[in-house]
Amino acid sequence: PPGSAPETISILGATGSIGLSTLDLIGRNPDRFEVEALTANANATALAELAIRFRARLAVVADPAAYGELKAALAGTGIEVAAGPSAVQEAAVRPVSRLMAAIVGAAGLAPTLAAARSGATILLANKECLVSAGRLFMDTARRHRARVIPVDSEHCAIFQALDSNRPEAVESVTITASGGPFRTWSVEQMARARPEDALRHPVWSMGAKISIDSATLMNKGLELIEARHLFDLEPERLSVVVHPESIVHGFVTYADGSVIAQLALPDMRTPIAYALAWPERLATPMDRLDLCSVGRLTFESPDLQRFPALALAQQALSRNDGTATVLNAANEIAVNAFLQRRIKFPDIATIVDKAVSRADTEGVGDVESLEDAVALDGWARRIAGGFISGLLTPAG
Ligand code: NAD
Ligand code: MG
Repeated sequence: PPGSAPETISILGATGSIGLSTLDLIGRNPDRFEVEALTANANATALAELAIRFRARLAVVADPAAYGELKAALAGTGIEVAAGPSAVQEAAVRPVSRLMAAIVGAAGLAPTLAAARSGATILLANKECLVSAGRLFMDTARRHRARVIPVDSEHCAIFQALDSNRPEAVESVTITASGGPFRTWSVEQMARARPEDALRHPVWSMGAKISIDSATLMNKGLELIEARHLFDLEPERLSVVVHPESIVHGFVTYADGSVIAQLALPDMRTPIAYALAWPERLATPMDRLDLCSVGRLTFESPDLQRFPALALAQQALSRNDGTATVLNAANEIAVNAFLQRRIKFPDIATIVDKAVSRADTEGVGDVESLEDAVALDGWARRIAGGFISGLLTPAG
């Protein structure tokens, strides 16, 4: 609020889609926010520019090979420079008012979990943390009094719809899906889909991995698992409805039949602003929702036949062992292989299915520690990689 000391913000994954949207809002509120640490994977040039523009105190690249370039780009600026996964972790535990966790994939688990252990207020975009190690992550946060505020638009909607209401009166929680770029495509058409088709999302502009996840609907499956852990909900209370206009982001149905939904134009800066200011509200510059110009909101059931990845995630949702860890890791490997044109679009779900089945036949362990998560994640990556190379036969 005006007059009070600025809040300090660190961003893990500052050069990504969520990182840049966060910085856009910070840049519009220079009296309210100050940047502490910014991290990126390997793009030292982009990170250095952001660190200078936003007067960060620390800039970190996860890839040690990018250290020299980052150091040179920030020479003489007084900005601290570091590299490597342990430096990302140190950036994550620097005391700040709020930490934006926006690394993509399970690569974000170790630093974000470290932040939870430090009792941070975590604005969580990195949903793969909660898919790969949801119970561990939320237990750790509770134990260390860390606060986890969702950034994913659907979870931001549910967070708002649940706020100040009685949890025992919640009957069900529904998140919406745009349906992605292939919502109306046939199985035959999807078999020929190229990465550039899948990256052309009708509503949202996002990083490559989540764009592919949106095309398979795996993203919605990951979000169900995310919601289960974030809000401590039984899987039976969670569902998905396809809503191509992406105006209603999620809703909660209460015991009396009341349904509380959150609506907004699809722009990630709205949920990011909510997370940055909660429980206050930050003014944002975007267009406002005009329902008369939208005209019509439509809803349909997801088609699990055409989008088997969602069915696979729904199966993992109701399990308490490491199945979701395997699902997530195999999916990351398969999405990368599709982006590199090594496999076809439908192969993504097939590889995830095979990896999960293999885990099932070999017996999936539980995820009680970061070490458990890392080991199972690594196992699933090797298995999925093996299926992709055609080295392994399907689990029997
Ligand atoms: P992105 O690919 O645009 O950016 C990812 C960021 O993580 C980059 O800064 C990159 O440098 C960094 N990074 C990548 N690999 C890393 C590694 N191994 N170690 C350290 N840093 C690494 O991704 P995004 O679209 O911004 O998504 C980030 C997260 O937010 C994902 O978990 C995604 O599911 C979630 N999310 C994104 C959106 C969206 O609109 N983009 C919406 C909801 C949720
Ligand atoms: Mg989402």
